[in-house]
Amino acid sequence: MLQECIDIKNHPVKELQVSVQNYLNTIQNLPKGTIFNPSHCDKKLSGFIGIKRKTKSKNTRDLIEEFQESFLNLNQGDRNRFILIFNQTNDVRTQFANPNTAIRLPNYPNGLKKSSKALFLNLYEKILNKYGIKDHYKKVYKEKRDSWCPFCGMEKFISFNRFKQDYDHLLYKAVYPVASINMYNLVPMGIKCNRIHKKTKDLLMDDKGNYRSAVNPYFDIIQPRFDLKGSNMSSDPLKRIWKVNITPNSTEVKTWDNVFDITARCKEDFLEKIDKSKHETECDKLINAFRIDKANRVLFEKESGIYVKWNLKRLEAEIKLKRMSFNTNYYHEYNFIKYAVFDFLLTDECLNYRKAILKMII
Ligand SMILES: [Zn+2]
Repeated sequence: MLQECIDIKNHPVKELQVSVQNYLNTIQNLPKGTIFNPSHCDKKLSGFIGIKRKTKSKNTRDLIEEFQESFLNLNQGDRNRFILIFNQTNDVRTQFANPNTAIRLPNYPNGLKKSSKALFLNLYEKILNKYGIKDHYKKVYKEKRDSWCPFCGMEKFISFNRFKQDYDHLLYKAVYPVASINMYNLVPMGIKCNRIHKKTKDLLMDDKGNYRSAVNPYFDIIQPRFDLKGSNMSSDPLKRIWKVNITPNSTEVKTWDNVFDITARCKEDFLEKIDKSKHETECDKLINAFRIDKANRVLFEKESGIYVKWNLKRLEAEIKLKRMSFNTNYYHEYNFIKYAVFDFLLTDECLNYRKAILKMII
């Protein structure tokens, strides 16, 4: 969301979606009771779905037969409605623009909920890899201009040589199963974002059941800015009070913060977590490195005879310079929160803290 997701044009992994769409169109008006025949699918898909199993664990062939049977048991109106749900949900861009029109599994036609979910999840888990999702990741990894997770800017992607990055279903697959093989609904995401933070959260509905807007990174990005106004910067890390503010105050930004726990991660992992060996947080490490660097500068100036006594003004100019350095690649390596820390150091609330830094430098 902080970076646009790379769309690999004409990649074969996108063919599965088209094949399934064609299959649904083929069976839409078939007489009730028509048994599934591989010729209902195109050659590529029918080559992957396997042969009928007699065991308890079902393969794609078993699941597509069950799906077709329940689909053809529907009356024509419900059949048409399901195809409409399929088409509408898979128009992912429009779906994100109109969150109140999204149709979730409980509203699928009765008689098709179980079999459609089972089939689409199976297509995602067992068939999509046959269409080359690993190769898709290889291309995304190579084309991406950096390795930072585009959802948080706090973790990195892993090389395709070791691992295929998690592909997250923006519209969660158990709730919107018909969109589970759509590559505009599948995005490579950092492991922490996918497995710890987003998990099963619904981008288009909050946990109280209210519709909300979100951005789909294939089509749109957000550009949030961070500040720490209202925080209390005590020299004792345990006494500090952090307030992380994110602007603009739009629904899309709020959704992002809620889904990926951004505020909490900034606070817990960067501002508050204390490294016991040094009794300092990541934030302190950063400020201390700055302070040591400036103290060395003062020492150098004194030794080379060019020293002019440092005052608060000079320190503030150095803090501004440091702050600027985080403005490039703002969404990498926690830079947005590092920027906010140095920005906050310049506020009136931090005057005493600045004075204390100056004392340590000169
Ligand atoms: Zn992430």
